[in-house]
Amino acid sequence: MINIAIDGPSASGKSTIAKRLAKALNYTHIDTGAMYRAVALKCILEHVDLEDEAACLEVAQKSEISLKTDGSIFLDGDDVSRLIRSDEVSQGASKVSKFASIREILVGMQRKIASKKGFVLDGRDITSVVLPDAEVKIYQTADVGVRAQRRYEELLKAGHEVSFDSLYDELVERDYRDMNRESSPLIKVEDALEIDTTHLSIDEVVSLIMEYIESRNLND
Ligand code: C5P
Repeated sequence: MINIAIDGPSASGKSTIAKRLAKALNYTHIDTGAMYRAVALKCILEHVDLEDEAACLEVAQKSEISLKTDGSIFLDGDDVSRLIRSDEVSQGASKVSKFASIREILVGMQRKIASKKGFVLDGRDITSVVLPDAEVKIYQTADVGVRAQRRYEELLKAGHEVSFDSLYDELVERDYRDMNRESSPLIKVEDALEIDTTHLSIDEVVSLIMEYIESRNLND
């Protein structure tokens, strides 16, 4: 078995693709963004200033985060899968994730999980920091307008009231923060396969990656 690492900007469809790949290969998907979201959610619930590294670190240290194989995420024993998807938590996650001390805790957990192999991890620093030796590395991107539109439709479908314009602005803001922070910024590593999904369907992206894996004779 191998590990597959997927990085890319917000709402580029990484989790959707990672889930599909994991299913096709009988692997387990690890949504690392959900872990940063869980820490942010707890900081928000405890009214901790998201710019205060020491206070956020304290929250992260006392948080019990667990990812279930069905994709749900538990924080201190509660299922927070839905709660972590709010706009407030999205922005909060991108704020707490700039702290190296918090990244260290979550990266440690992610490496430990992936050491058994057979995982598809998606995030911002998987190919560069968490698993630089992953057998397959993908950098998945898409035009920002298309990403905003996809996220907009997804949220509408889920019954959320959203404004396209604010969603677009938030995406741009989050991308900027994720790509320009000091600690583990989002980058495309040299040996990652870059896939621009702007004009591709989910099936097409999955097929492309499956072909890539097969072409490299890695999947045994
Ligand atoms: O992937 P998702 O949008 O759920 O991630 C939420 C935020 O968590 C991102 O905007 C990013 O700031 C942070 N993140 C990160 N490193 C990861 C995964 C997510 O910094 N590996």
